[in-house]
Amino acid sequence: VVDLRNVGFAYTDVPVLEEVSLSIESGEFLGLVGPNGSGKSTLLRIALGLETPDAGSAELFGEPADEFDDGHRIGYVAQGATSGDRRILVTVREVVTMGRFPHAGYGRLGSDDRAAVEDAMVKTGVADLADRKLEELSGGQRQRVFIARALACEADLLALDEPTVGVDAESRDAFYDLLGELNDDGMTIVLIEHDIGTVTEYATTVACINCCVHYHGDPEGFAESDALADAYGASQRMLE
Ligand code: ATP
Ligand code: MG
Repeated sequence: VVDLRNVGFAYTDVPVLEEVSLSIESGEFLGLVGPNGSGKSTLLRIALGLETPDAGSAELFGEPADEFDDGHRIGYVAQGATSGDRRILVTVREVVTMGRFPHAGYGRLGSDDRAAVEDAMVKTGVADLADRKLEELSGGQRQRVFIARALACEADLLALDEPTVGVDAESRDAFYDLLGELNDDGMTIVLIEHDIGTVTEYATTVACINCCVHYHGDPEGFAESDALADAYGASQRMLE
């Protein structure tokens, strides 16, 4: 699904990523962890073709990611999707409906599409808010709306960059349980998440950026891996 090889990237003259390789197989639930500023969001944007690497290659469903145009559906919740004070005058249902545009080929939406939109709003607890304007919602409510849009997409790849920031604990747990079920049903998921407990509980593979280790395999093993826990702890302490 995703194949990144020896990726190098810089926004300015300071390198952000150097020689990073990462692959995501179909059906995998990859958790991407690492300290603030380590380049997780950047790497995900490169994988989705939203940035072009300066070195190495990035493929998405077998095509160069930045030229990706092959009809696979990508659901993406960008980091901080709800931040800023932009005036967003569309309603919740309209935002979630955007997630169906790839299905409808940007033409008329059918009853399947409408059902998927309602289902996604129910699963994320925003059905009661369907006719409210996005700008009238709280931060956590908005975040759920963006999650709902990604779910409505019934994506071939669900890419989530810290999707539950601002979401209350109970809803957050329900959302991760839902992700686990979607993955059990075969959905490919990449999740950036700082809560290592969540990642080790749900992800089938964990990749660690700037934690010195790239672990591939049983997440139970990851949780118990002292070397990795130490590496992660050390990288966190360096930031303090
Ligand atoms: P966090 O855990 O805080 O979300 P991250 O691992 O997602 O961090 P990135 O957002 O990928 O980190 O940023 C990696 C580095 O690139 C950081 O040092 C950041 O300052 C820099 N950076 C990110 N976006 C830009 C930009 N638009 N212009 C210049 N530098 C940027
Ligand atoms: Mg980030």
